[in-house]
Amino acid sequence: MSEFKKVAGLTGMKDTLPPESARWEELEALVRDWLAGYGYQNMRTPVLEHTRLFTRGIGEVTDIVEKEMYSFVDPLNDERLTMRPEFTAGIVRSAIEHNFLYDRPRRIYAMGPVFRHERPQRGRYRQFHQIDVEALGFPGPDVDAELILMLARLWRLLGLNDIRLELNSLGQPAERAAHRAALIAHLEKHVDVLDEEARRRMHSNPLRVLDTKNPAMQDMANAAPRLFDFLGAESLAHYQGLCARLDDAGVAYTLNPRLVRGLDYYNLTVFEWVTDRLGAQGTVCGGGRYDGLIELLGGKPAPAVGFAIGMERLLDLWLQDASERAPAECQVYLAHQGDDGQRRAARLAESLRDAGLRALVHAGSTGFKSQFRRADASGAAAAVIIGGDELAAGAATVKWLRADSPDGAQQESVAFDQLAQYLKQRI
Ligand code: ATP
Ligand code: MG
Repeated sequence: MSEFKKVAGLTGMKDTLPPESARWEELEALVRDWLAGYGYQNMRTPVLEHTRLFTRGIGEVTDIVEKEMYSFVDPLNDERLTMRPEFTAGIVRSAIEHNFLYDRPRRIYAMGPVFRHERPQRGRYRQFHQIDVEALGFPGPDVDAELILMLARLWRLLGLNDIRLELNSLGQPAERAAHRAALIAHLEKHVDVLDEEARRRMHSNPLRVLDTKNPAMQDMANAAPRLFDFLGAESLAHYQGLCARLDDAGVAYTLNPRLVRGLDYYNLTVFEWVTDRLGAQGTVCGGGRYDGLIELLGGKPAPAVGFAIGMERLLDLWLQDASERAPAECQVYLAHQGDDGQRRAARLAESLRDAGLRALVHAGSTGFKSQFRRADASGAAAAVIIGGDELAAGAATVKWLRADSPDGAQQESVAFDQLAQYLKQRI
């Protein structure tokens, strides 16, 4: 027993260990391929940003800024800093700072951890991961449709067929202003059913009041004036342009006039992909258009649209479907005896890796029995044995672990200098 006390990890911040971590890597690799297929390029921005980037970019009266941010004053220089709660503001800041949109629009993605101080539960963590995709400088609706078709393809690639698309249009600032006045009047009329948060927000961010999950407020929210009904011809044409392209591609959607999204900066297109298979946290992906944000953060005005996928929720869904089989640690497991056996095995393993095979040399216990147990648990296709007899003969014993070798043998003796080629041809 150690005399030292354990230090636990933080609430709501998960460790991911093998074999689950292999699933993350699989998902990340698949996602990178999928994004490359549409010409999206990676951008990496810092986890820490000035707090004012998020208060301005996300909006003061939002869940994130009001109560979810990890913010602190850097004691070394008194700067107010925040761990990014989402990617968009940082990506836009970076694009402005590096004059990245000066000659053409850009398709960008980022993937990594974001931080929100929320009550942890299934599908809701304090450090979680997002795949964030942004099309900067495109007015749409063609690119809005492209983003949604991309997502439909990702669900197909992952074999997920029960994620449905909800769509809305938030119009333009003037349309929102007209709706806002009508909405505030409606909220004032029903002030008796509003909870404390709703009362606080009814004048500062009335649209967000409709986003409530409070059951006692649902009737009031359902009867509220719909922003969609305030849209002018141009906004409607944008929405219809998007719908026509989704229809072309056979992507199903429903108009949800109450969909407003958590962030302040959206206009026109907003959407969410939702499933019933994740309990209460059923939103896998949310996105929308934010034509005002680049200017709001000090850049030359340019339209933009994007989305963020919650990776924990996506992985949860994916693993519900996936087979139980843990991914293999290696393709070849090398067992050995004696110092000379170990040294020969290590050299052979390097030659296998030269040939592109994933090889693992046993380390630790010396008995063959326990080495075979490890070989089996590793998921390797074959074990290579280097004992005294093998060293004397200059040939390894290859034992096929999952099934007999492609030529029907369960076990074969293969000269050391032939080993890499022999295995490469059969694995
Ligand atoms: P919610 O309504 O569930 O709080 P949100 O509107 O705050 O979601 P976004 O800011 O749109 O979420 O983030 C995009 C995606 O990130 C969400 O659709 C969800 O899949 C995921 N997500 C959001 N918050 C968390 C969290 N605390 N833990 C894990 N995933 C999250
Ligand atoms: Mg939230």
